[in-house]
Amino acid sequence: MSDAPSRFFHARVTAINDVTPSFRRFTFGGGDLAEYGDPGFDQRIKIVFPTRTLGLDAMPTGDDWYAQWRDLPADRQLPFRTYTTRYVRNHVSEVDVDMVSHEVMGPASDWIARARLGDEVLIFAPTLAHSGVSFGVDFVPPARTEAILLAGDETAAPAIAAILEQLPRDARGVVALEVPHPGDAAYLPRHPGFVYRIGARGDGERHAHLVKSVTDAAAALVPAGEGSDVEEVDIDSDILWEVPRTAKGGAALKSAHLYAWLAGEAGAIKALRRHLVSERGIDRRAVAFMGYWRLGRAES
Ligand SMILES: Cc1cc2nc3c(=O)[nH]c(=O)nc-3n(C[C@H](O)[C@H](O)[C@H](O)COP(=O)(O)OP(=O)(O)OC[C@H]3O[C@@H](n4cnc5c(N)ncnc54)[C@H](O)[C@@H]3O)c2cc1C
Repeated sequence: MSDAPSRFFHARVTAINDVTPSFRRFTFGGGDLAEYGDPGFDQRIKIVFPTRTLGLDAMPTGDDWYAQWRDLPADRQLPFRTYTTRYVRNHVSEVDVDMVSHEVMGPASDWIARARLGDEVLIFAPTLAHSGVSFGVDFVPPARTEAILLAGDETAAPAIAAILEQLPRDARGVVALEVPHPGDAAYLPRHPGFVYRIGARGDGERHAHLVKSVTDAAAALVPAGEGSDVEEVDIDSDILWEVPRTAKGGAALKSAHLYAWLAGEAGAIKALRRHLVSERGIDRRAVAFMGYWRLGRAES
């Protein structure tokens, strides 16, 4: 067994299921996946997609894969995008990843639309030997919280689902989720301690439900406090990402009234973070926020 913290896994599509109108579950198989690590919660991974002209053997996969990949001419660089591990079944060498089947705009959506059983990808993920260590896991709540706010759009739904399934039954909180279609509301598992505010966008304004449901939830969960300034992030050139934690990777606070985890389109997440920290006065060390994607801009 390899002792590398993360590496590329060869994975072959063994099942494709549309869980709800917007969420397509890809089950990947292959002997290699017996060593796939599952530290839990919102574990992020990279998936390398073959293109119509380049096969997976074009991807450098050694320890310095990223430097080698960057040095390749653009037309020799295989695209990769970030996803979330949904389920891992090492005993049968299987991994599930839930992907939003949105309009074809980039290499991932192109692959999602045309993938067939037997198609292959590479997944960069932690190894089994590394399980339990927090690399790539950004849900890091304080040991004691009165409530947890999980908020995001459809790209964050797989992470929110995994977090809900792994939280203890006595956890309490609110889920604020915006999805494309009313039928997507069934995607999230139900946790007895959580209130669900799931809204379908339909043809309506993007983020309207998300912003309103987070604003309402914050008003109900925390008394208004003194706001503090947050630095402006240029979401069209910088990555919007802050996960408060200690140098050792643990939660930045031992206890907090509310812990908020926000992920999705960067413009919406930026506005929500400003509301929670600057307007509502929530301690910024209790707010994790992640721009999972940016409207009008490819991931890399
Ligand atoms: C940590 C992390 C975890 C993630 N987990 C998941 C996951 O589990 N499942 C999942 O489906 N996605 C997930 N995402 C989001 C996913 O990585 C992006 O949606 C990705 O950009 C899609 O790649 P693409 O090749 O289709 O589009 P890109 O080439 O990256 O972008 C092309 C165009 O498509 C637009 N675009 C990208 N994503 C969307 C979208 N969802 N809806 C509408 N337009 C879009 C961009 O704005 C751009 O204009 C995650 C992202 C991060 C950072």
